Amino acid sequence: MPRFDRSHTDDLAAFIQASPTPHHACAEAGRLLEAAGFRRLDETDAWPTGPGGHYAVRDGSIIAWRQRADFDAFRIFGAHTDTPTFKVKPNPDTGSAGWKQIAVEVYGGVPHQTWLDRDLSVAGRLVMRDGTEVLVHVDRPLLRIPRLAIHLDRGVNEGQKLNAQSQLTPIWGLGQPREGEFLEFIAAEAGVDADDVLGHDLFAAALDEPAYLGKDEELFAAWRLDNLTSTHAGVAALIAAEDTGTRVPVLAAFNYEEVGSMTYSGAQSPFLESVLRRIVGDEAERYERVIAASAMMSSDTGNAVHPNYPEKHEPGHRPIPDGGPMIKVSANQRYASGAEEQALFRRSAEAAGIPWQTYVNRNDIPGGTTIGPISGTQLGILTVDVGLPILSMHSARELCGAEDPGRLADLALGLFTH
Ligand code: ZN
Repeated sequence: MPRFDRSHTDDLAAFIQASPTPHHACAEAGRLLEAAGFRRLDETDAWPTGPGGHYAVRDGSIIAWRQRADFDAFRIFGAHTDTPTFKVKPNPDTGSAGWKQIAVEVYGGVPHQTWLDRDLSVAGRLVMRDGTEVLVHVDRPLLRIPRLAIHLDRGVNEGQKLNAQSQLTPIWGLGQPREGEFLEFIAAEAGVDADDVLGHDLFAAALDEPAYLGKDEELFAAWRLDNLTSTHAGVAALIAAEDTGTRVPVLAAFNYEEVGSMTYSGAQSPFLESVLRRIVGDEAERYERVIAASAMMSSDTGNAVHPNYPEKHEPGHRPIPDGGPMIKVSANQRYASGAEEQALFRRSAEAAGIPWQTYVNRNDIPGGTTIGPISGTQLGILTVDVGLPILSMHSARELCGAEDPGRLADLALGLFTH
């Protein structure tokens, strides 16, 4: 029987609002876990060996689990915490023709057009002189990337390519730019002294509130569905997974998926393996036995069939919103989903009592990839790729079915408990 319903999507909306960056997503996930009795562990400390819920955070990635006294396998639900957006450059103050602007770098695969003419804000983290980290979220309109008026750009509807260096620089005021002004503003917003800020990761954030949409409100629109839907589903399922038999349920949500996962905290890093080894303890041979019996589900968003471009989809595999989570299959292992993996997915979905669908790319459109093949290869764990069907992936406003987020949480719970 499914455990999560539409109210899960309301919770997801609140999670998205509280999580404009990977660092905020880890903080919010930590807050929810702690409210359910989980405890944050520091990687530099010795860890407790007794039963209990724990989590660790490393640079925008979070791993949470329920330690058991006796266990023989892990069941891991993987996700990512980052989203394509714009990152503020180290010296951001710039301007042109009487406008103050903020220099930004493109982070990940941003479809430029969807970010134009939107009220944007800034959120991120500051690393202070004393080594502490301060989160900042300016929760009001601050930036805008203005579109060129159609009268000055008669070809706009024939397709327009924007130069990422010169034509995507947001404005944030009028007048002459002054060096240091933006970071002084951000420091004041964060309540810290700008002179003590030694480093920053600051990102443009879409401000529109998540909303239900459609005649019967059967659709759900928000920024960062990719992939806070999976991160939040994993948190909810882990909190609900009180009885998992002899398996340790784990949520692993990584930062930097959108830029290749190659950082000290990303899916290509030893973060997850390090946590799993510490959960098992000193016995090296036992670790190998536990890993051999373990399984992982890597969850991300995927492309629902688009009504205006159905030909872009494989004709026999056209997932629709609210048809349930998809297993993503690729013979070339862009997605990790062979026969054993398919069976793992089916067992989890059947245990959860939810509908499900299959996604396959067209042979002539290779599509994306995700953390599944990376983590599976790193750890040597059976891994299946799954996805939530959405439209407008990587847009500043994505769209999914309103029932599907709860089904994804049920699928994660099915993985943890079946
Ligand atoms: Zn994604």
